Amino acid sequence: MSEQASKGTFKNIGIVIAALGAVGLLIWSWNANMSLTQVKLGYYCLSCKKTEDLSAYRDDYPTNWKQYPRAMSDSVLYCVLCKKGPAHPVNECKSCGSVFILHLLPKYDQYGDPSCPKCDAAYGEAAKLKGHDLMPKELNP
Ligand SMILES: [Zn+2]
Ligand SMILES: [Zn+2]
Repeated sequence: MSEQASKGTFKNIGIVIAALGAVGLLIWSWNANMSLTQVKLGYYCLSCKKTEDLSAYRDDYPTNWKQYPRAMSDSVLYCVLCKKGPAHPVNECKSCGSVFILHLLPKYDQYGDPSCPKCDAAYGEAAKLKGHDLMPKELNP
């Protein structure tokens, strides 16, 4: 399923990279205006298990700030720390405070917000069955 989606994404990679820069700037300006926890939480790398605020690297574009190949979303970036893993944006649940990874097994609620794998237990279970740890302990100490 993700293979299909990624082929289309790959074709438009030039556009996507250009758009990514714009989105990055947009997120950054939002961050400047509002203290959104979501943005402050930064990106979590699936390989080195570290969290990094990749917006700090946006001036490095496209050397460090770049889209991860074959990812499910344009928002998944190349890890600048280990140079290996995809770095996913993370989100904090407004209800339970759990921090979870976005765009790994995306699911959205009726308001278009990312579903929380803890509050939506069925979603959490489905992710676990697929071998995805959406709430790694590194993000939920
Ligand atoms: Zn990494
Ligand atoms: Zn929750």
